[in-house]
Amino acid sequence: MEDTLSNQVLVLNRLWQAVNIVGLKRAFGLLFQEHAKVIHSDDGNFLIYNGEEWVDYSLNNPSKKESDSLKTINYKIRIPKVILLNQFDRLPMKEMKFTRQSLYERDSSTCQYCGKIGQLKDLNLDHIIPRERGGRTTWENVVTSCIKCNSRKANKLPHEAGMRLKRKPNKPKWRPFVSYKLNGNIDTAWSQFLQVSKY
Ligand SMILES: [Zn+2]
Repeated sequence: MEDTLSNQVLVLNRLWQAVNIVGLKRAFGLLFQEHAKVIHSDDGNFLIYNGEEWVDYSLNNPSKKESDSLKTINYKIRIPKVILLNQFDRLPMKEMKFTRQSLYERDSSTCQYCGKIGQLKDLNLDHIIPRERGGRTTWENVVTSCIKCNSRKANKLPHEAGMRLKRKPNKPKWRPFVSYKLNGNIDTAWSQFLQVSKY
């Protein structure tokens, strides 16, 4: 069984929150060991099937598309897009790494002094307390700034430069595990279960 991209299955916890993305082998394993059920959307309604019911459904509703099914010795089973775990109700979270990119993401690519939303080339990072004056490179002391504000502020503290921060910068909250794994390839069957998280 090949785990190509189209054969990836979104896993939801009992609260219908996306918690993982697994290959087909793992998905069928969970399904037939009764650890999970299939969530299948039919005309906008969600129907839930256990392993046995899913086999029946596959037999009664064969898909026209070859790639939607998996051939076993005895029958063709449809490939589920989303499965629901029976037990698990945690939401695994990941800590956001401190990088230029995550700082821009935390600040929504918005200059924290003038509020201008910038393109990457117009943005810079500003140390609120300048490094020369002991300011550290941390979530709390570094903000997104446009180049203009950045040069205006230079080595001053904000009040010395007559500038004010739009908001107090914080370390971002941990964010759901799944958003880390997605690289823009979101199956339409998944989209209703995935919230695009800001941070
Ligand atoms: Zn600015």
